[in-house]
Amino acid sequence: MAEIKWVKIPIDIFSNERIKFIESKNDGDTIIITLLKMITHIKIIDTNGSIGLKLSDDLVKVLGLSMDNMYNYIEILRYLKIISIKDNVIIVSSEFFKIDNECMLHDILDYNKRMYILQRDHYTCAYCGALNSFEVDHIFPKSRGGSDHESNLTTSCKHCNSSKKDRTVEEWNNGKV
Ligand SMILES: [Zn+2]
Repeated sequence: MAEIKWVKIPIDIFSNERIKFIESKNDGDTIIITLLKMITHIKIIDTNGSIGLKLSDDLVKVLGLSMDNMYNYIEILRYLKIISIKDNVIIVSSEFFKIDNECMLHDILDYNKRMYILQRDHYTCAYCGALNSFEVDHIFPKSRGGSDHESNLTTSCKHCNSSKKDRTVEEWNNGKV
C-alpha cells in the first residue's frame, strides 16, 4: 500500500482557539509537538479511507512519551475534539492537516473501495457468476453520470465488463439477444 510522504498543515493552525488553549497549559508545547508527531505518523487504516494511527505500545516510542503522559495528552486532544478514537485508532481531525498528494489519496481510496467491492461480492461476477473475477463495473455507466457509490459498483469478470461497455444491464442484455 502506498505511503503518505507529505502532509500540509494550515498556516493559521496556531490561531485556532483549541490550539491556543493547549498552548496556555503547562505542558502545552509538548502536547502540540505530540499532535504534530501524530500527524506525521498517520497511516491509512481502513477501507473507508479513514486515516489515523494505531493506539499501541509502539506509539509511546513513536511519540517519545511516557505511557502516562501519552494517555494524558490523548485525553486532552480528544476532549478538545482535535482527535477522535475509533476501534483503537487515533484519527486526527482533518481540519488540522491535509494529505499533500490528494491524487494519491484518491488512488488509495479507489484501491480500498475496489478491494471492498471485490470482497463484498466474493470475487464473483454479478452478471455471469464467474468465480475469480477481479474487475469492478459501474452498473449504471459512469460515462453517463453513474455514481461511484458502492451501490452502483459490482464485481465483474473481464469478459462481461468488456462486453457490457458503457451500456446499462438492460441495453446490454437486449443487445445480446
Ligand atoms: Zn461475467
